[in-house]
Amino acid sequence: MGQHARDSQKQQVYEFEEEIAELHGIKGEQLTLLECQGLVAEICSQFAVNPPEVKDGRGCKSAFANELWITLPKQFRNMIGVVHECCHVICDIMFDCDRPYHDSIFVRYFIEILATRSTLTLPYLEHFAKISHVQVAPPADFRVLSPGVSGKLLSLYLEADQCSAELEFFCAQADDARSELAEIGVQIDDETYAARSELFS
Ligand SMILES: [Zn+2]
Repeated sequence: MGQHARDSQKQQVYEFEEEIAELHGIKGEQLTLLECQGLVAEICSQFAVNPPEVKDGRGCKSAFANELWITLPKQFRNMIGVVHECCHVICDIMFDCDRPYHDSIFVRYFIEILATRSTLTLPYLEHFAKISHVQVAPPADFRVLSPGVSGKLLSLYLEADQCSAELEFFCAQADDARSELAEIGVQIDDETYAARSELFS
């Protein structure tokens, strides 16, 4: 995954979410991991995104999400926490990875999903974001993936992972071969060896 740009409105987004949840009592009750997994599946299916596996975030201070898993320490196992992490998953799949994590597009997804899961309306949520100094992308940036696209991304990702594991394996074999050859007096020059290394860097 690429380097994410500076996350300049992260704190404002956290405060916005907390305030709106508190004000309207919509944080949601404490959910079990299984219930969280169910909610993740529900939200992801709205966007034709494969639901990541929900993991216990024991020992972690904060929640974490990528295409493959979401870790949810206890304090994040509620509706707001799950929606927040799902937005990370969806945004990472649909947009460039080098965006700031909590950018205006993230907030657009957050309020669009929240509007379907609470009685709060989009204009109200947009207004609340504005007075909380949180930037929201225009509705045009809110997209729903066509079915199958995320599945394709996921399989490419897994394939790449598999390939790099295989490369590592062959790399180690090449290292072994080189030292075995050295033992019987055959030297592989550094240039050849470096050329091989380039393949894996
Ligand atoms: Zn976040």
